[in-house]
Amino acid sequence: MNSRIFLSLPHLGGNEMKWIEEAFKDSWVVPLGPNVNEFEKLLGNYLENPNIVALSAGTAALHLGLIALGVETGDEVICQSFTFAASANPVAYQGAKPVFVDSEPDTWNMCPIALEEAIIDRKKATGKYPKAIIPVHLYGMPAKMNEILAIANKYNIPVLEDAAEALGSTYFGKKCGTLGKYGALSFNGNKIITTSGGGALICPNEQADKHIKFLATQARENMPYYYHNVIGYNYRLSNISAGIGCGQMQVLESHVERRREIHALYTELLKDINGVTVMQNPTSDYNSNFWLTTISFDSSWDISPEDIRQALEAQNIETRWLWRPMHMQPVFANAPYYGGNCAEHLFKHGLCLPSGSCLTNDDIKRVANAIIAFFNQNTK
Ligand SMILES: *Cc1c(COP(=O)(O)O)cnc(C)c1O
Repeated sequence: MNSRIFLSLPHLGGNEMKWIEEAFKDSWVVPLGPNVNEFEKLLGNYLENPNIVALSAGTAALHLGLIALGVETGDEVICQSFTFAASANPVAYQGAKPVFVDSEPDTWNMCPIALEEAIIDRKKATGKYPKAIIPVHLYGMPAKMNEILAIANKYNIPVLEDAAEALGSTYFGKKCGTLGKYGALSFNGNKIITTSGGGALICPNEQADKHIKFLATQARENMPYYYHNVIGYNYRLSNISAGIGCGQMQVLESHVERRREIHALYTELLKDINGVTVMQNPTSDYNSNFWLTTISFDSSWDISPEDIRQALEAQNIETRWLWRPMHMQPVFANAPYYGGNCAEHLFKHGLCLPSGSCLTNDDIKRVANAIIAFFNQNTK
């Protein structure tokens, strides 16, 4: 049996233990500590924004972002439908209601036309505008942020970017996560870099940064005894996890480059299969990190993503369906939805390919050959 090729495994740089040993030596085996400060500084330099708060998860970052934007019970929040549930769940944590918006085919992300339609219709239906907009840079591909921000500004609704998959992606030369008012990153095990589990919130200024740090540490007021004016959270990143993050920052750039190389190699190897498209940057203003390389295939074929997934699984290759849209999830069955069937169509006619930065060119060739063989057998 061939060795297993995974979708996206953690890829350590080699120096992570140095920061962890440092933490043990000084007994900084606690939430917060010097590694957390260092990790935030390194992220801040990379993102050219010093106001970064390291947190226990990307989901926690999205939750605190919504709180910072004043989202409360009864409010509505517009969210891209084509995403992971973690983009939308924090809306529910706040007792607010998600309103889902379809994608467009160029980036697979939030459709600006459906977004504006949703804003106008929600105002008509409820008498007030949605409180926030959550676009997602899915698989690392930047959303059409110029168009989305223009609409958001027109109706004065703040944007919380879900950049969990997009660390290292740029849009018109600017880093994803720094384009909206707030931006959320994830350092889960399968993302571009890992802290074993973790996330960060990119804040608009020092005051917001301080407030998020306050909320993330149980909202303890500056008093000699424990004193609380508001509800707090235990959402800070541990000093150990942050140590892994410091080590990962040394290899972030090279890992992003490797993901892009893998995408270019797939594009070359799969170029001759008619009816199969490897997802590409729509123009040179978009520069995806290609966290995952994805394909879509001719919808006139009687083929399900599950057929391909199983055929590759039989060769010990892990692939995955694209995200099942949120408006197609039982848990969100009652949420309003705007748009057409772009996301649904992609879900039924696409697939995520193994894309981890530790994969070799031979691994990628093995995957490509398996895909070519599958379509040769099933489309004739
Ligand atoms: C991974 C992910 C998240 C959540 O991040 P965690 O760190 O796992 O909580 C949110 N949104 C998207 C699009 C993701 O892929």
